[in-house]
Amino acid sequence: MKCDPNLYRAASPSLAVKPRLIRHLFLPPLIIALMIGLGYIGFWVSEHYGIRSLGENGQRQLELHARAVESEISKYTYLPSLLELETSVSILLADPTPEHRQTVDDYLEGLNRRSRSRAIYVMDTTGRVMATSNWRDVDSYLGEDLSFRAYFQNAVRGQPGRFYGIGSTNGEPGYYLAHGLEEHGKIIGVAVVKVRLEAMEERWQRARLEAFVSDENGIIILSSDPARRLKSVVPLSDETKEKLARSLQYYWFPLNELQPLARETLSEGVEKLTFPANSELVSDEENISYLSQTRPLSDTPWNFTLLTPLQDLRREAINQGILVAVAFALVAFLLIAWNERRKVIATRLAAREALQEANNQLERRITERTVDLRASNERLKGQIRERRQAEETLRRAQDELVQAGKLAAIGQMSTSIAHELNQPLAALRTLSGNTVRFLERGQLDVASTNLKTINELIDRMGRITASLRSFARRGDDKGQAGLGKGVDAALQLLGARVENAHLQLHRHFEDVQVQIDQTRLEQILVNLIGNALDAMQAQPQPVLWLEGDTVDGKYRLRVRDNGHGIDAEARKHLFEPFFTTKPGEQGLGLGLTLSASLAAATGGHLGVEHPASGGTAFVLSLPLVSPLPPSQYEQRP
Ligand code: ADP
Repeated sequence: MKCDPNLYRAASPSLAVKPRLIRHLFLPPLIIALMIGLGYIGFWVSEHYGIRSLGENGQRQLELHARAVESEISKYTYLPSLLELETSVSILLADPTPEHRQTVDDYLEGLNRRSRSRAIYVMDTTGRVMATSNWRDVDSYLGEDLSFRAYFQNAVRGQPGRFYGIGSTNGEPGYYLAHGLEEHGKIIGVAVVKVRLEAMEERWQRARLEAFVSDENGIIILSSDPARRLKSVVPLSDETKEKLARSLQYYWFPLNELQPLARETLSEGVEKLTFPANSELVSDEENISYLSQTRPLSDTPWNFTLLTPLQDLRREAINQGILVAVAFALVAFLLIAWNERRKVIATRLAAREALQEANNQLERRITERTVDLRASNERLKGQIRERRQAEETLRRAQDELVQAGKLAAIGQMSTSIAHELNQPLAALRTLSGNTVRFLERGQLDVASTNLKTINELIDRMGRITASLRSFARRGDDKGQAGLGKGVDAALQLLGARVENAHLQLHRHFEDVQVQIDQTRLEQILVNLIGNALDAMQAQPQPVLWLEGDTVDGKYRLRVRDNGHGIDAEARKHLFEPFFTTKPGEQGLGLGLTLSASLAAATGGHLGVEHPASGGTAFVLSLPLVSPLPPSQYEQRP
């Protein structure tokens, strides 16, 4: 089958290999890059929305706790102004005697106890403490000059004094609320309440809340984490630091800055802060991030800040990111697998279709070829019929030719036969005349000798005519012949010519039985020997060799002469009918043709050899009838 080349044409190798190579080289890094990218996006989105929801939650917490701080602070705001109503206080400020002081001290002590404040004290307009609730204590404020305190300076000017600071006497932090005591529109002194706000810190700690309150200077005054206390949340210039140090507001604390590793402002009052891992603020090894939400506290210049840790959120976001990356990898893997499977199926389908197509083509071709074959078969059958007819015609023509050849040979031989017969006839006439005369004379012995000779002559003439008859008879392809007999008959037919030629004959063959009609064998031998005699006419010592041997179940008889041989041009046409080199009536050009065809008709062959020594040798090979007889048939004339 001849396949359609278009059907199986493969893509050019460079084109087929390149996309696959590119895919294999770039696909894995691309998938990894996409995994990382999508993982990061997943992480970012999760963190973003997490922070938003934490922020919303934190906002509520911020509000709640800021309110609690506000109420804690505002609880005491009325307290200093109460002292304005107390006459003993104004008496003391007007007349500071020990009795008056004692009265006020006792009053303040009782008031302080009831209000659960840290201390309550009264100062004159110069800032000296005139009476105090802690008059019994060793570190009592009594007699101290606190004019440098900002709350005093504000209050003495008639403004509300709000101040968080560390006590200069005992170093204890507290919230100071001061009020200028007025009498008849004039400030006669200042009443101060000191409140401890540490209870709030404890509450935050119990609630595991991270929060702090920073004051107007940005210093953390209250913090759930003690380590953050008295740290500044804003950068402080050296000048400010010095001023604050001088005011002794924070006693002698260094006021370091609370420095986050990273600070990201998310919205108004909302920041993301990251503190270092090894910071004293955290015990964990990781850096800690917080969502910081700040809100100002009303009635104060302070801010309340709520810190919500972001570790859990971050961990959650990382997990979400990993989940997204893994999900993407899974989807990519499934897509690749699906794509590969799709390609395999497509290839299989294509191959199946190609196979089907090839099969269809094959069937189409087979059908076409079958039709062609049938047609050529029919043609062949016709040709065979024609050939058979031609063969039949040829065979008939051949038979006719053989017959014609025989007749021609007879015609040719008739002259020599006439010559052959005339001689004995003349001899017979002479002999018979002589015999009559010898009988009349009574010479019976001579007459009987003549009669014997006459008989011999008649026998000879009879043999000649018998040979002629058998030669002229149409033979058939079957039958068997004795080679010796055939040679003898042929020589007899050519008797006169053989004798005239003074031929030297060498017989070296066996008297085998060959598969050919006897007459036909003789006819062939007459032709061959006759031709040899013709060829040796000019030869002063003509020699004829008849040599035989057996080859492959056939007997070969070589008829060799030492005649003039055959020239190269004549060799090409030897076996063609009517080819002759003999002049005039002598040659018909049928002898060899007929002999070859007779030999072939019995399964034999007639060939020619041209011996280097000269002359010509015709080789007649005929199938043997039976195994060779033990003795060789050799004769010399
Ligand atoms: P014809 O004898 O009538 O010519 P043949 O067919 O017998 O026809 O021979 C054809 C030719 O072959 C002869 O004319 C002769 O030239 C050549 N030929 C045949 N036998 C011999 C031979 N023994 N020696 C030389 N030439 C030969």
